[in-house]
Amino acid sequence: MKGGSHEVRLKGLGVSPGVVRARVVVRDNSFTEPETFSVRPADFLGERTRFENALVETRRQIVSLQNQIRATAGDDADIFDAHLLVLEDHAVLEQVFDKVAKEGINIESALYQVFSGYMESLRRVSDPYLKERAVDLGDVMRRILRNLKPGTGESVADHPVKHPHILAANDLSPSEIASMDRSLVLACATEMGSPTSHTAIIARSLGIPAVVGLHEFDGHFHTGDEVLLDGYNGVVIAHPRAETVEHYARFEAEKGAIRDQLNQLVGERAITLDHQVVVLSSNIEFSHEMDRVRQVGSEGVGLYRTEFFYLDRPFLPEEHALLEDYVKVAKGARPHGVIIRTLDAGGDKLPTSIQHGTEHNPFLGWRGIRVCLEESEMFRTQLRAILRASAEGHVSIMFPLVSSLEEVLEAKARLEEAKASLRAEGVPFDDRIPVGVMIEVPSAVMIADVLAREVDFFSIGTNDLVQYTIAVDRVNERVAGLYAPHHPAIVRMIKRVADAAAARGIWTGVCGEMAGDVLSTPLLLGLGITELSVSPGQILPVKRAVRALNCSECQAFAEEMLTLTTVEEITSRCRELALSRYPELLL
Ligand code: PEP
Ligand code: MG
Repeated sequence: MKGGSHEVRLKGLGVSPGVVRARVVVRDNSFTEPETFSVRPADFLGERTRFENALVETRRQIVSLQNQIRATAGDDADIFDAHLLVLEDHAVLEQVFDKVAKEGINIESALYQVFSGYMESLRRVSDPYLKERAVDLGDVMRRILRNLKPGTGESVADHPVKHPHILAANDLSPSEIASMDRSLVLACATEMGSPTSHTAIIARSLGIPAVVGLHEFDGHFHTGDEVLLDGYNGVVIAHPRAETVEHYARFEAEKGAIRDQLNQLVGERAITLDHQVVVLSSNIEFSHEMDRVRQVGSEGVGLYRTEFFYLDRPFLPEEHALLEDYVKVAKGARPHGVIIRTLDAGGDKLPTSIQHGTEHNPFLGWRGIRVCLEESEMFRTQLRAILRASAEGHVSIMFPLVSSLEEVLEAKARLEEAKASLRAEGVPFDDRIPVGVMIEVPSAVMIADVLAREVDFFSIGTNDLVQYTIAVDRVNERVAGLYAPHHPAIVRMIKRVADAAAARGIWTGVCGEMAGDVLSTPLLLGLGITELSVSPGQILPVKRAVRALNCSECQAFAEEMLTLTTVEEITSRCRELALSRYPELLL
């Protein structure tokens, strides 16, 4: 469809906001498999030397790139640690050389076969984060292969384009996006990718609008075509018509005005018109997100998902590494606090460093607190690190996927043991560290009154609570239509939990995605939720929503919602109320 005559709209996932209209450069990511040829035993040593030299050069390039990025994007450079770890994985590298020796083939082919095997296994897991590790492996493999061919080493910017453009590619590795010239690459569009990919994280932190997951754009546009990219809604439009361009000019102006208005709220509190204070905090997955958390005026961190620290490395992290990371977050959150959730491994995200067998129903299997309690050494290490970090800021601890009182009692007993060990060593910590549990399983909802006697707070994980209550896999696209946070059962459950907490004088927050959805704000406040933990990008919209509402009115609204019987009725009433109070947020 070259020539720009017909507008073509492609839908993907908007992972970094902004609208850009520019010429597109389509980068051919196709990678040709290296040729396989025989190598005589006498040449094995030569192959090994070539391999080792290429590894040294690859390491040098990554470190140099990391230093460059650190100068401009700070902690985002840490992402290249994952690449360096690949180079330090001696077991994998030895496997490559073993293949050369056993099969008598060249090093390029052996490297390609071994790495492809690992990449294939990683792509097959459903966890988007683990899938991304395949991208890291591919990135490092391509670098090593380039370095095995003398003279072709530095080719990140293979065909540097000298004019500002939108870069479209099948996929972009973190190192590629991080080393881009921002004055030339105005936005990115990729066929692959997910919102949790490193590429998406870096695009967001560098402020490069991006749309990922476009499936196949092959044939819809070519290098040189005009393309409009909408990073808010995840849309890429090739050959936009004049009316589309005008529409987007208006859309941009409105968005800009809303952004300016929202930015005025950074220093304000999340308080309703009738003076009910709501604690509005952030969900984070990496400690380097703390700058953004502060920038948007978040009241600390309501959920630190610590598992990503474990997923990124081949070995279990040591106490000092965890401590350093947690202290960064605790100090960064001051004067507010941080709720550190203990490892929520399992389901679709088991770190390679934890031994586990195959499970028929992983989401109903070895997950969350169950893993923590069985892997005692690992749990003890994490508890000690969290406790030690509590000496440096306001730290709370939270246990994931709790389904019984016994689990809570056991977890608390382990916490006491960890405290005792630190006390014996004279290491400081907050002896009165608040302890909470996530409510994300129906059994926990039903015994919320019992659990409330044992903890200082509840945080409702609606992402899982919806999954387990409606029996709808949260990562299965086929049943996505059934995934409904406004299901009457969920509304009643939230009410039940908040009431049980209030009866014991403890607070209830929500940290699932529902907390960041401004359609649900009146409902949650009305049901008795006093803390909302949302992604940093949702802090200001939710704050705006809270400030436009009356708590007493929200309570009456929630009472009405408790009488409704279908998802559709509840959602449509939520939309009506939101539209009447903050229509601009629904734009
Ligand atoms: C949840 O289940 O709502 C939650 C916040 O935890 P996660 O998304 O990490 O499972
Ligand atoms: Mg959960």
